[in-house]
Amino acid sequence: MYKLLLHICCAPDATVAIERLRERFDVLGFFYNPNIEPNKEYALRESEVQRLSGLQKFNHVEEKPRHDEWFDICSQFASEPERGERCRRCISHRLKITALRTAELGITHFATTLTTSPHKDVDFIHETGSTLARENGLIYLPETFRARDGFRRSLELCKEYNLYRQNYCGCRWSRKTEDTFAHETPEIITTPA
Ligand code: SF4
Repeated sequence: MYKLLLHICCAPDATVAIERLRERFDVLGFFYNPNIEPNKEYALRESEVQRLSGLQKFNHVEEKPRHDEWFDICSQFASEPERGERCRRCISHRLKITALRTAELGITHFATTLTTSPHKDVDFIHETGSTLARENGLIYLPETFRARDGFRRSLELCKEYNLYRQNYCGCRWSRKTEDTFAHETPEIITTPA
């Protein structure tokens, strides 16, 4: 069975992906999401992925979020709507780090749970994943987890596991309560040594 590094954006989106992939792959989860703000939200989503790994019994690794690097990549496109250039850069960055770690770990395949969400541009995600795979001598699995009733299944599993489901994608610009968030001082998680 091939090993696959699965980029996990959040626990709810991982539920159905793990369920579907584990029959075909030896899955290692990979949590790298420097886009999640503020820190307390990051900690909550991270802890839910840890809890899910116990419930669904899969291993995972976490890479410390380099929020400052991510901010430099995305902030000049802050005013773009979701699915615009800001999101393309954010997603490309997370997939690029996933591909690099896949190669470093000697794993052949990678995929992302971002395709569980009905809000994401899966064509862009698959194109980016395939390009990164070619550049790094890897295989990208272009699986759309929301298809075949996958999103509904993720909701069922969230309910079963009593998982926290966020109501915004992750960055400050996607947060629905932007007016209150604007008065908070952003907490920046610094790049690890
Ligand atoms: S809306 Fe989501 S994908 Fe887009 S920049 Fe913000 S966190 Fe990234």
